[in-house]
Amino acid sequence: MPLAGLSARQGLLIRPPKDTGAGFARPLLFERFPMLIVPEALIADLVTPEDAFAAVEATFAAMARGEAYNFPVVREALGEGRQYGFKSGLDRAGGVMGVKAGGYFPGNAAKGMINHQSSVFLFDPESGQPTAMVGGNLLTALRTAAASAISIDRLARTDAKVLGIVGAGHQATFQLRAAARVRRFERVVAWNLHPEMLPRLGEVAAELGLPFEAVSLDRLGAEADVIITITSSPAASLLDAHVRPGTHLACMGTDTIGKQEVEPALLARAKVFTDEVAQSVTLGEAQHAIAAALIAETDITPLGAVIAGLAEGRRSDAEITIFDGTGVGLQDLAVAQAAVTRAVERGVALKIDL
Ligand code: NAD
Repeated sequence: MPLAGLSARQGLLIRPPKDTGAGFARPLLFERFPMLIVPEALIADLVTPEDAFAAVEATFAAMARGEAYNFPVVREALGEGRQYGFKSGLDRAGGVMGVKAGGYFPGNAAKGMINHQSSVFLFDPESGQPTAMVGGNLLTALRTAAASAISIDRLARTDAKVLGIVGAGHQATFQLRAAARVRRFERVVAWNLHPEMLPRLGEVAAELGLPFEAVSLDRLGAEADVIITITSSPAASLLDAHVRPGTHLACMGTDTIGKQEVEPALLARAKVFTDEVAQSVTLGEAQHAIAAALIAETDITPLGAVIAGLAEGRRSDAEITIFDGTGVGLQDLAVAQAAVTRAVERGVALKIDL
């Protein structure tokens, strides 16, 4: 199925090399779609946080209904903290198949680049032909913040007033902006292992009109109604004793074996939700509580099931809810598809006739 709007033939046409008879000749057995490129620099003007929220919410629900599924994740440690891998999936009803190739390169920030680097490749699910290549850096931040915000929207108490954030890296500001869209927070309290990074988060809070305070983890847990954790920590920072009844936590930083943000006992005390159970128990925050036999796989509910009306969410104001956001390939494909559709509508996609 061609991507919506391709027949409009908008965009800049990049022609393939001329067939000189010296190797470029290829028998044209089937019709081929043009391949589109939506570079990183265009994404900010094409996809809003609202677009990302809608795309990811629909994808989570499609996953829960069995209409879309993620393929196994490939993730390799490259040494010196660098990670590289592939997240992929198929949403047949949505006409989306593809892969996000990317990883985490902790030395980048010192060179003026963001540590996460990724690109999304989309393919036609019927023929396997490539349809688009899309810059994935901003999209990753938008889709990750959207997942967290969807969990807050669905699972946090509606009277939540104080937002707590553990972490202050690249993703944290996106998380703050997205969370502020779904609850009327009155202030933000934050903690980071590297406190010198917190003022940047404070600037975003100020932009949103929210008072901001750097606090201890004791105070953060005692005051926050919603807590987002978004760090690359290898060991728990937030302990069970820090968190009071009724809190919703979006644990977003643990997306790899060996990372950990909260004490496993907290998951045993909470009702646990996730984007993808298979990822949650192997490489998400729940990996540690599962390994310690504090919870079972069957204790974890897909957030998509709540969205689709197939499972209940928060059961009482006193319940602690945790969203283990591991990050799934279908999230990336959904926002990349949104970027391509918008780029085609506006005539800004680069186009290559294959
Ligand atoms: P970043 O490198 O910009 O920031 C890293 C953050 O972790 C900072 O707040 C830093 O102070 C903190 N940190 C570093 N070492 C720590 C330690 N030993 N203990 C506690 N805190 C520590 O990274 P980012 O782009 O903001 O990403 C943060 C995390 O989120 C990473 O682990 C990344 O892989 C993960 N992530 C998850 C998803 C998802 O879908 N779940 C998507 C994107 C990123």
